[in-house]
Amino acid sequence: MPGSWTLGIVKPDAVAGRKMGAILARIEERGFRLAAGRMVRLGVPEARAFYAVHRERPFFDELVEFMTSGPCFPVALEREDAVAAFRAVIGATNPADAAEGTIRRDFAESMGRNAVHGSDSDENALREIGFFFTEADLARLAG
Ligand code: UDP
Ligand code: MG
Repeated sequence: MPGSWTLGIVKPDAVAGRKMGAILARIEERGFRLAAGRMVRLGVPEARAFYAVHRERPFFDELVEFMTSGPCFPVALEREDAVAAFRAVIGATNPADAAEGTIRRDFAESMGRNAVHGSDSDENALREIGFFFTEADLARLAG
């Protein structure tokens, strides 16, 4: 039975650190189907738009600088209860607070350079998947 959707991103720290393969393996092991993925180098306007909800936060400029510092790898993920299940797999924003066995605990460097993104609601998941992938991509890659 098809599940629900979330958007994950292997962030630039993890791509540069050659942790992407291990992170994608972990995601698959936890029951997610990798429906689409591609290597992307975000520009500043794109990163600002993706994280627009955080534009008033003190860490916004640093976040945009980090997310544009190198390639990242967005993935459209399908699983039962995808948003909550993926948040559980990635762990707390700050790796120091992330539970054992979570991706951030095992791969993140710091609160800012924290290896992965995960959508925080079904509504945002669809917006964020649409940021990187078209309906046609998902239909063409479906299986
Ligand atoms: N972030 C940061 N400092 C903070 C909070 C967040 O650098 O105090 C960065 C971090 O990379 C985080 C991203 O901004 O993943 C988005 O923040 P959010 O609160 O949405 O955390 P997430 O949903 O990624 O756990
Ligand atoms: Mg968030």
